[in-house]
Amino acid sequence: MPRATIGDVTEPSVPLPGLSGVDPASLAPWLAERGEPGYRGRQVADALWKAYASVPADLRTLPVRLRDQLAGAFRIDTLVETELRPADGGTTEKALHRLADGALVESVLMRYPARGERRERHTLCISSQAGCAVGCPFCATGELGFGRDLETAEILDQVRHAARRLAAQGRRLSNVVFMGMGEPLLNLDRVLDAVQALSDPGRFGLGARHVTVSTSGVVPGIRRLTALGPQFTLAISLHAARDPLRDVLVPLNRRWPVAEVVAAAREHARATGRRISYEVTMIGGVNDTPLDADAIVALLRGDLAHVNLIPMNPVAHTPWGASPAPVIEAFAARLRGAGIPVTIRRNRGQEIGAACGQLAAERSGEPPAATVTRRRARLLAESAAALRGERSGTPVPAGTGA
Ligand code: SAH
Ligand code: SF4
Repeated sequence: MPRATIGDVTEPSVPLPGLSGVDPASLAPWLAERGEPGYRGRQVADALWKAYASVPADLRTLPVRLRDQLAGAFRIDTLVETELRPADGGTTEKALHRLADGALVESVLMRYPARGERRERHTLCISSQAGCAVGCPFCATGELGFGRDLETAEILDQVRHAARRLAAQGRRLSNVVFMGMGEPLLNLDRVLDAVQALSDPGRFGLGARHVTVSTSGVVPGIRRLTALGPQFTLAISLHAARDPLRDVLVPLNRRWPVAEVVAAAREHARATGRRISYEVTMIGGVNDTPLDADAIVALLRGDLAHVNLIPMNPVAHTPWGASPAPVIEAFAARLRGAGIPVTIRRNRGQEIGAACGQLAAERSGEPPAATVTRRRARLLAESAAALRGERSGTPVPAGTGA
């Protein structure tokens, strides 16, 4: 097989499929062709999802001959190398994963201690793409641009890696959120396959209510999910309810304006009976005014919705930062006053850059100072024009299928 060199690692140019991404119904005939008894499929699933196998030797319950055959046809783990960075006194842990082609993606593990009746929880934030084509200017992944879609196994192996680390401490993962790098609804087939594996009682067995998928507003994707019925909690990255400002903050808004996104989400809530979670990253002086709060009220009043306010994590190369805490409180009070449930989220892992995509962005190197200055000036001008109600003429980002 031809080989290509990636950094100091040599990998086959076309990697074998990742084993965790092969569903049991597809693996069964592969095992049968090799004369294996029916229970082998169960043993493979247990090795992947109970022992979190990462090398052939971890497939302990299987005969050595079959371990070798599996390792010759599949990759037991698609994460080539992982670097861990703890923060927040050990309650947050960011993992930077290197994939077979050298692509870097991240996952972030957050521990929420027990409170009152509520047991300790562990939430993992995972990536669905390397980079992202949507290009939201406050997001470090948007800064990176689009790399590629992740394979189902590359998505699932982030979960298996975190579950393995937790299992070593006698703990279990309680929630998975697709809020790392990438736009999940632009890689929807793989994301749906991954969600199926996560909720399958014979594999990871996480209840659908414990999985959240966040989207910047890919309307055809939302409609497709509605047709499938409840699969997970749907989160919409709203950030602004006024089109001129949302055009700047979420460039996909130029293709699917906020009213269309909310209409699709509302239909999803109606059809599935599940509350929609709306995310608003609070950016000081940009989207945190009483006018913005009132625009959200006008858009969501009476809906089956919940709003999460998240102070912006600082990202290099932007002129912006988080709104001050009293401003966020006042914004929340205005929404609550109109009957909209609101949670203010504390941003986690700032010291390690746990905001979407930051660690990988650091690795890709600093752009020249002049580029940063130009970019900051453009963003300030665009957001100022948006606040005056003017829509910018910038085109829809390429590579989003929009
Ligand atoms: N692409 C999807 C999912 C990944 S981003 C989406 O945009 O919904 C996950 C969440 O992180 C989004 O709500 C996004 O707006 C938020 N986010 C990105 N950069 C951030 C930053 N610097 N500070 C706070 N939240 C950020
Ligand atoms: Fe992409 Fe989401 Fe970041 Fe926007 S916020 S650039 S959609 S990952």
